[in-house]
Amino acid sequence: MECDKCGDEAVMHATYSGMHLCEEHFCRSVDSRVRKRVREDALLSEDASPDDPETWLIGLSGGKDSVVLTHILDDIFARDPRVKLVALTIHEGIEGYRDASLDACLELTDDLSIEHEVVAYADEYGLQMDDVADEDPLDMAPCAYCGVFRRDALSQYAEEYGADKLLTGHNLDDEAQTAMMNLLSGDIQQVAKHFDASLGSFEDREIDDDPFVPRAKPLRDIPEKEVALYAHLKDLPTHMAECPHASEAYRGEIQGHIHDLENDHPGTRHSIMSGYEELAKLAAEAYRNSDDGPRGECERCGAPTNNEVCRKCELVDAVGGELAETGD
Ligand code: SF4
Repeated sequence: MECDKCGDEAVMHATYSGMHLCEEHFCRSVDSRVRKRVREDALLSEDASPDDPETWLIGLSGGKDSVVLTHILDDIFARDPRVKLVALTIHEGIEGYRDASLDACLELTDDLSIEHEVVAYADEYGLQMDDVADEDPLDMAPCAYCGVFRRDALSQYAEEYGADKLLTGHNLDDEAQTAMMNLLSGDIQQVAKHFDASLGSFEDREIDDDPFVPRAKPLRDIPEKEVALYAHLKDLPTHMAECPHASEAYRGEIQGHIHDLENDHPGTRHSIMSGYEELAKLAAEAYRNSDDGPRGECERCGAPTNNEVCRKCELVDAVGGELAETGD
């Protein structure tokens, strides 16, 4: 097949758009969709200036998504004095997995001369995910513990670092799955929270009273396969192995259904997201001022929560971990 733009050999065919693209035009297309998303989400505040730049913390796992995100953001902003990029890797304590992906993170951040920080569950919570998965005191899937610890570690570090935004590499497939899971849960308040927490444009989101550093997902228009192809064509250092504790069974089920729908009806993921984002925006507007956000602080760690003790501290207790001293 030939590239629809230049006639060179095509490396991909996007069934949802009908386009065949060669390596150069495919990579340009990914770059321009991310630039457009950054613009449309108003990611860079109008107040940012060379004298008062914004700090964007990128969650960098070493997997294809976060590596591609870091590479493209560096391409866009490396010479822009209004933005400082910092990469953060969370080390969960999973033998043979995270150490290998950490090597990919170090290679990338070294190549791009981006500051790179590492936060380990061992230091923050006194635990290793391998032990948590083995002992599993609450009879939950490992990801149910790990997801809570990771969200907390990212938020906590972003706050301590003084970051203005926290960026993650969620792609179109990830977001379409989350959208379907939220809709199928029947919890519209969760849909509303998704919008203000990380989905909508900064022009439409209510973030002033949010106790967390605002999040954004600049890859959310790019299908997972295209992220993988981009990483391959650009020869980026990525770690492709799957975590040995990966266990999100329900998400896997939803992923399978969306995959089948996309095969039969190309464009399904895009239409899920455009409809969902509109709905989430309306829900966010309806639920604002309903006073349902975190109203207090965890009495152990100070994290925002509606309860006396936050979920992360409950889980740290359950698995016999210990919170790091904060020095307060
Ligand atoms: Fe943690 Fe699950 Fe991800 Fe493994 S797959 S790193 S256990 S969230």
